[in-house]
Amino acid sequence: MVSVEEAIRLVAEHVLRLPEETVCLSEAAGRVLAENVFADRDSPPWRKSMMDGFAVRSNDINAGIQKLKVIETVTAGGSPTVDVEGGQATRIMTGAPVPEGADSIVMIERCAFEEGSDTVTIELDSISAGKHLMEAAANFASGDMIFPAGRTIRAMDIGLLAEVGAAQVSVFRQPSAAVLPTGDELVSASEQPTGPQIRNSNGPMLLAMLKGKGIESIDLGIGRDNRDAMQEQLKRGLEKDIFLLSGGVSAGTLDLVPSLLKELGVEEIFHKVKVKPGKPIFFGTHQRSDGSRGYVFGLPGNPVSSLVGFRLFVSTAIALMCGKANAIESSPQLAELSREHETRGDRPTFWPSRRISSPDCSLIVEPLIWNGSSDLVALGKAEGLIEFPAGGKVHDAGTEFPFWEL
Ligand code: AMP
Ligand code: MG
Repeated sequence: MVSVEEAIRLVAEHVLRLPEETVCLSEAAGRVLAENVFADRDSPPWRKSMMDGFAVRSNDINAGIQKLKVIETVTAGGSPTVDVEGGQATRIMTGAPVPEGADSIVMIERCAFEEGSDTVTIELDSISAGKHLMEAAANFASGDMIFPAGRTIRAMDIGLLAEVGAAQVSVFRQPSAAVLPTGDELVSASEQPTGPQIRNSNGPMLLAMLKGKGIESIDLGIGRDNRDAMQEQLKRGLEKDIFLLSGGVSAGTLDLVPSLLKELGVEEIFHKVKVKPGKPIFFGTHQRSDGSRGYVFGLPGNPVSSLVGFRLFVSTAIALMCGKANAIESSPQLAELSREHETRGDRPTFWPSRRISSPDCSLIVEPLIWNGSSDLVALGKAEGLIEFPAGGKVHDAGTEFPFWEL
């Protein structure tokens, strides 16, 4: 049985980053750049006006010349055709290039101007050079690196990528995935369970967790605890980059998943982690016919155990496959316990918890009332998991523990 740390290290050691692909900008948010992106032009590309108003020579205004001759109008998308000379002004709109000769912009609110008139009176006694205009390349220059390879593209980064003409970007491929919950007792959420049946919570939950990470997955239905019945579903799951199963991985007589996977060529990397809930988790890898590697997680059947396994190990594997360099470091934050809490047992416990608002903005978390690995009500209230160390102990309020955000 390996520790959580060791299991994460084993995942990181075995999981390979997927190859690159080119995607258009509309598909790029959430993906990891596989290339450095450079600016193809200056920003702004010219000295531009930041206001609607008049482009003037500051010397004129500062010398008391306020009535100026309007020589032309330049709008965004247009270009000045004449330079501004002493006693002159160009009417200008936000974003338009500032004509030569002018060195500041007077906003329209400070100008007395009649539409159609060829003069404007500036209602200012003084103005500094450079007012309300931006020099060419003030944001970045052509050739500057905008984003480095390895960066996760956020939705708000798309604007800058568009500005530099990166209409397509090279990113790491996202894994394909398949989900197979197993268990003779399971029926789908749309069915009425009878007798010893329960509804399949894990399948829809795991599919949604994958979707939340932008991963398309196939739903393989429900696997039955029967060697022959499960074979075809397992084979289909193994075609995907990442295959998530739930149930059938512990010590019950019908826990067939690890042995069936091994028969199909999956090499076990670990089976059982010192963690509560979620001990019987299985992780394996296999080589596919095209030579690429596939990864399989057999998550325990109880839904909170499955979720803990997903949060600790599956999400690490996915992040690494997608090219996220800081997949492991970015994990838990230290948080203070809001109240006394007792833990028991010989394994570290990942306890569903929620944040408490604190006046000084420090991270304070409250362990929720939780009935264990099948209790989805606590999970419904949880924002993360507090990691308590192994051993029976009463932990005082204010003690710090790692908090794994969900
Ligand atoms: P297993 O890991 O197969 O021994 O299952 C452990 C417990 O989780 C049993 O009580 C199962 O009935 C339950 N369980 C298994 N799979 C699911 C599932 N997909 N949704 C909800 N509960 C499940
Ligand atoms: Mg089972």
